[in-house]
Amino acid sequence: MPELPEVETIVRNCRPHLEGRRILRFKTHWPKNTAPGAATVARALSGRKIVQVTRRAKFVVFQLDDGACLLIHLRMSGRLEWDEPQSKAGVPARPGTHGGDGHGGGRRGGPPHSNGSPRHVRAVWDLDNGRRLLFCDARKFGRIRYTRDLAAATRELGPEPLARAFAPACLEKLLAARRRQLKPLLLDQRVIAGLGNIYTDEALFRAGLHPATSSHRLDREQVRRLHRGIRDVLRLAIRSHGTTIDWIYPGGWMQRRLNVYGRTGQPCRTCGTPIVALRIGQRGTHICPRCQPKR
Ligand SMILES: [Zn+2]
Repeated sequence: MPELPEVETIVRNCRPHLEGRRILRFKTHWPKNTAPGAATVARALSGRKIVQVTRRAKFVVFQLDDGACLLIHLRMSGRLEWDEPQSKAGVPARPGTHGGDGHGGGRRGGPPHSNGSPRHVRAVWDLDNGRRLLFCDARKFGRIRYTRDLAAATRELGPEPLARAFAPACLEKLLAARRRQLKPLLLDQRVIAGLGNIYTDEALFRAGLHPATSSHRLDREQVRRLHRGIRDVLRLAIRSHGTTIDWIYPGGWMQRRLNVYGRTGQPCRTCGTPIVALRIGQRGTHICPRCQPKR
């Protein structure tokens, strides 16, 4: 699932293509996952200008000229793509749309041009420059939500870990107030926004902390290391355009820089000990047993 760095990359790539554009029509083929209802959202978006494209947690946010917002959550397999007429592309449809070169990576700027006819189209935005933005989602877990009150719609979400205001003292407070294992705690979007399985494992490795450690047992130095680990790995991942895992999010190169996630059995880059896979809070978790000892 795309996490903060992947969604941030998508947002940055979308921005020059969407900001200032007016939505002529919005149509969802997927009323169940569109809130507060397909017809209401279509009516509300019609004629609205997208003034800004931003991110909150793992949501792509379109801010509209009337103060309302559209939140898009990609979940497991959602992608934003451009629908380009075949005649314009001048190339025959290629088999295997899921090959997905360029998606999210931004090396071609913006959402990718689909190869051939786009598949699993769940929603369509017709823009005033004749282009058509698609939301494609094979597994249908994605969500589109229209709101007039972004603050209220995102009230449940924890702080942004890259925000200037997110100081080590903030993290210390969040951890001390809960008695939970670090891994499930960091995955909880109500505690900190934007982290998923990959960057939680990587942040804990950088901090030298075992993922089953209870959050209220960290001393100030350990909190400081975790704070730095979270911010450093997210910043590096954004610079790397995120992590390519499979066709869901191609285009990033952070996978070459991961220390533990997906490296089971491979030597730790710090000490050479083989990376171990555990299950903590029902989530696959990767650690170096030497660099992240259980206390
Ligand atoms: Zn190690």
